[in-house]
Amino acid sequence: MTTNGVHLETVPHWIAGAPVSSTSATKSEIVDPATGHPIRAVELGGADVVDKAVASARSAAEAWASTPTPARATILLAFRTLLLEHGEELASIITAEQGKTLADARGEVARSVEAVEVATSAVQQLKGEFAEQVSRGVDTYSFRQPLGVCVGITPFNFPIMVPVSMFAAALACGNSFVLKPSEKVPSASVRLAQLLAEAGLPSGVFNVLHGGVDAVNALIDHPDVAAISFVGSTPVAREIYRRSADVGKKVQALGGANNHLVVMPDADLDAAADALVSAAYGAAGQRCMAVPVAVVVGDIADRLVAKTVQRAEAFRTGPGDAASSDMGPLISESAVDRVRSALDTATGQGATVVLDGRKDDTHDAGYFIGPSLVDHVQTDSDLYKDEIFGPILSVVRVDDLDEALRVVNASPYGNGASIFTTSGVAGRRFAHTVRAGSVGINVPIPVPISWFGFGGWGDSRFGDDGLNYDAYRFYTKAKVITQRWTETRQGVAPHFVAAGS
Ligand code: NAD
Repeated sequence: MTTNGVHLETVPHWIAGAPVSSTSATKSEIVDPATGHPIRAVELGGADVVDKAVASARSAAEAWASTPTPARATILLAFRTLLLEHGEELASIITAEQGKTLADARGEVARSVEAVEVATSAVQQLKGEFAEQVSRGVDTYSFRQPLGVCVGITPFNFPIMVPVSMFAAALACGNSFVLKPSEKVPSASVRLAQLLAEAGLPSGVFNVLHGGVDAVNALIDHPDVAAISFVGSTPVAREIYRRSADVGKKVQALGGANNHLVVMPDADLDAAADALVSAAYGAAGQRCMAVPVAVVVGDIADRLVAKTVQRAEAFRTGPGDAASSDMGPLISESAVDRVRSALDTATGQGATVVLDGRKDDTHDAGYFIGPSLVDHVQTDSDLYKDEIFGPILSVVRVDDLDEALRVVNASPYGNGASIFTTSGVAGRRFAHTVRAGSVGINVPIPVPISWFGFGGWGDSRFGDDGLNYDAYRFYTKAKVITQRWTETRQGVAPHFVAAGS
């Protein structure tokens, strides 16, 4: 592909253990969000490439499923080592296409390593149950078997962590996999495919297919695909869930979020302000577990807002690969426009823009906008209701914990929610009552370690349970066997023989 006279290298698909390209395919530009310039192109696969990718996964599925579970884990262990060895390179790939700071990208790689570590214990996760002598000479036992070809469709904001948290578990369980990464950040997936091959994964077990809506629909409808994992925005998650269910596929579809952090009057306000700044503006607010809403209880609001603004003003926007940057660019020009228009509308709907990121004029190019803080936000305003997915912190003021819980629990989303307090009673009540899948107490972004499951409530998740630890159930189906082996020596019950011998 050539843009403005510049030839752009094309990111290929990865099918049957090798890069695959076609000269006639439709392509899309990959833009460096820190400059706004195209840096590569990516193929947008149609039904023909979908067929190839699924056929590759299908032909590898049986041999992989019958590979002993510890042998599969050994390959994943080698992949883990490669992730660690190539950590800096992978972080650079993330930053170049997604824009986040290198420190953040390194954190993403570290969380991916953790997801692989969980997957290497597949023998433990897949162990079944055994009930001896449920009737005379009869035992019942269970085990779990892989589904076959599984598909992952992933968002732009975690080019490595979200795909790895899907496919590490799926592969460990004995499935083959077709990954359809975000077309905005496709390079990391192909590099992961190369590292899996280097780790010893047989050809065809893991495939990468680039594309947009057409590729996704063709994957869901494909008769040889058994299960769909999706992570992305709520409207698309809902549609993926509906379409997958229509064709009888097992589906988990994780959607968007609008996470709240409640600050109680007894909280350590400096710790709360630090937490708000990192959770609202880190990764430019483009995390599904970012905190775009602070619910401030009682008369601490003025002091907390002042402390938060003071810290946010010191936040430096800049390219993700510059050591001085605290926050990189947004993913696209339209994402910047969305943030600008949310701020434009907020004032007309009764809120006060205390810190205005539109005034950040330190960049001539790229999709930058500074941190914003909007106070006195009403819960019926557009700023509050929409997922902005950018660096805006909305402050909602309430009188007590009851009112705070009512606000949080009225949100249609339920990805994460946190409370900052020095009261164990308030913290426990919050954890017990709040409607969210991941809850933090004095922790702003409560993403659990991968040894727990991850997934939201409400409009943040449709279909089956989520990722990481929960993925073992999603990526397998259970089989329960009831067996009778009758004793050949007449009149002697098997348990009696065992006890006496
Ligand atoms: P997106 O929904 O636009 O895209 C996600 C994936 O779906 C991409 O691969 C894209 O190509 C594909 N897609 C887009 N539109 C589609 C359509 N109409 N039909 C079929 N496929 C389609 O999301 P995004 O902008 O890439 O990512 C940001 C969103 O993801 C945010 O809403 C964020 O909250 C959410 N997210 C959620 C979690 C979670 O764990 N719940 C984690 C990360 C991101």
